Amino acid sequence: NQPTPAYGRVLLKISGEALMGDQGYGLHPPTVERIAREVKAVRDMGVEICMVIGGGNIFRGLQGSAQGMERTTADYMGMLATVMNALAMQSALEGLGVFCRVITAIRMDEVAEPYIRRRAVRHLEKGRVIIFAAGTGNPYFTTDTAATLRANEMACEAIFKGTKVDGVYDKDPLRHADAKRYDDITYDDVLLKNLKVMDASAIALARDNDLPIIVFSLDEPGGFRGILAGQGTYTIVH
Ligand code: UDP
Repeated sequence: NQPTPAYGRVLLKISGEALMGDQGYGLHPPTVERIAREVKAVRDMGVEICMVIGGGNIFRGLQGSAQGMERTTADYMGMLATVMNALAMQSALEGLGVFCRVITAIRMDEVAEPYIRRRAVRHLEKGRVIIFAAGTGNPYFTTDTAATLRANEMACEAIFKGTKVDGVYDKDPLRHADAKRYDDITYDDVLLKNLKVMDASAIALARDNDLPIIVFSLDEPGGFRGILAGQGTYTIVH
């Protein structure tokens, strides 16, 4: 007996770092599997799910360029890192019996499907989880922007941003005991107060298309499903 989900189609954005566990770098397969279970629980409610996973656990363009690499090359390396994370997540989801497709913004047909919007929508309609990899395919962007772009293209009703904390705070709650969590906040306040939700271009793109962003904790077991079932703690940016 599944509750009626709050949204029928959503995009889950997680950072690459969410997949590294306590290792400080790279992929930690048990952590990937734990997150895959969270996704499966929501999929089992009948929700159509897209995912975007960052690449920061492996490579970030800005770090590379700070060390003397040419920026666009470094950004392509970052995009390739997101493909590795996407494949790891696909493997974990399939291990749980969830049908899943990885779709890349940069063609690599032997590895994954290219992005064709109508085909992607069809996958969702058939109940497959889609993982969008390689960001937007363009340097100087981030996977936050890719998430907002794809969520709009796929007509998702909300972006779920899984983080280490259960919402948006006025200051870093891991460092300040008196940090205050917002239940809801506007896009403009996030931008004005420079709150670290997603980067500014992603927030602006969500605002211009009335796409709500739900910030929640990925560390809370069953948290993703709970919010879709109408419970739990989170911040909604709208
Ligand atoms: N990237 C890019 N264009 C995109 C998305 C990502 O160039 O559309 C590169 C960029 O170098 C970025 C890296 O891929 O640093 C990894 O993505 P991101 O930093 O967003 O990952 P996260 O912080 O979410 O793990």
